[in-house]
Amino acid sequence: MAVIGFIGLGNMGGPMAANLVKAGHQVVGYDLVPAAIEAAKAAGVTIGASPAAIAAAAEVVITMLPGGKHVLGVYGDIAPVARPGTLLIDCSTIDVESARKAHALAAGTGAASLDAPVSGGVGGAAAGTLTFMAGGETDAFERARPLLEAMGKKIVHCGGAGAGQAAKICNNMILGISMIGVCEAFVLAEKLGLSHQALFDVSSTSSGQCWSLTSYCPVPGPVPASPANRDYQPGFAAALMLKDLKLAQEAAQGAGAPTPLGAAAAQLYALMNAQGEGGADFSGIIRMLRGEG
Ligand code: NAD
Repeated sequence: MAVIGFIGLGNMGGPMAANLVKAGHQVVGYDLVPAAIEAAKAAGVTIGASPAAIAAAAEVVITMLPGGKHVLGVYGDIAPVARPGTLLIDCSTIDVESARKAHALAAGTGAASLDAPVSGGVGGAAAGTLTFMAGGETDAFERARPLLEAMGKKIVHCGGAGAGQAAKICNNMILGISMIGVCEAFVLAEKLGLSHQALFDVSSTSSGQCWSLTSYCPVPGPVPASPANRDYQPGFAAALMLKDLKLAQEAAQGAGAPTPLGAAAAQLYALMNAQGEGGADFSGIIRMLRGEG
């Protein structure tokens, strides 16, 4: 089995690295936070001295970091020391431009690279059921596939450098917009005296049907597993939704794509965050739309 470097052992990276260990790989990890290091050690991850030391010895290096500046910082350290042919896989959610810069840094030193952001959240990371959206050369994708399969259940090659990040932000822009649409419909139904269950029963089998309604219903009752049933504990935090909507807006401005509903969704999630609700599940935006404090 390959020696795999894993940089960024946080909420997502920690359980992803643990699943690689379970699949029989030798994983050498690194993080800046002592608690993340201790949890990774307990899951069987060996801790390396630095990202550069890890990259010099590993066949594959996976990064799972907060944002583009962190990824480019780490790539600046690891790309120059990686052995020719080393595969660098970035699973963080970052802007498309930084993802393409990371590919260029890798290519400049003879390393293969893939952007491979995920959806499925912390639960999916722990259960090994993430969806990976990958961008990069076909050879790099095929080399990465068995490793991604140890951490996820659906692996999609979306195209060349940056295509994985593009797919991620397009998908999450749909999600942010559709969640607000579903929440607005429930708020209107409440004002009209229509029960939550009645709206759900009609719309879940009609043309208003969507994932935000049928899998993640923002009111308690119709979908017992949705965060609305546990006071909007995440789930997928509103702060992360705002991050992804901002990335979508940056990309839309750079590409000249008109996204008026994406822009409105970003503004509404910015307001929710400004009200101190960034840690709540993103479906909790229904409380703000109702005007609850
Ligand atoms: P997190 O903050 O829990 O983990 C990030 C880790 O990176 C932290 O432990 C931090 O110490 C570490 N780190 C930062 N800079 C570093 C450096 N230079 N060297 C080594 N380690 C460094 O975040 P997370 O929830 O694990 O998210 C990671 C990425 O996954 C983000 O890009 C996020 O947008 C994306 N994502 C998160 C979720 C989710 O539900 N949490 C879902 C999908 C995608």
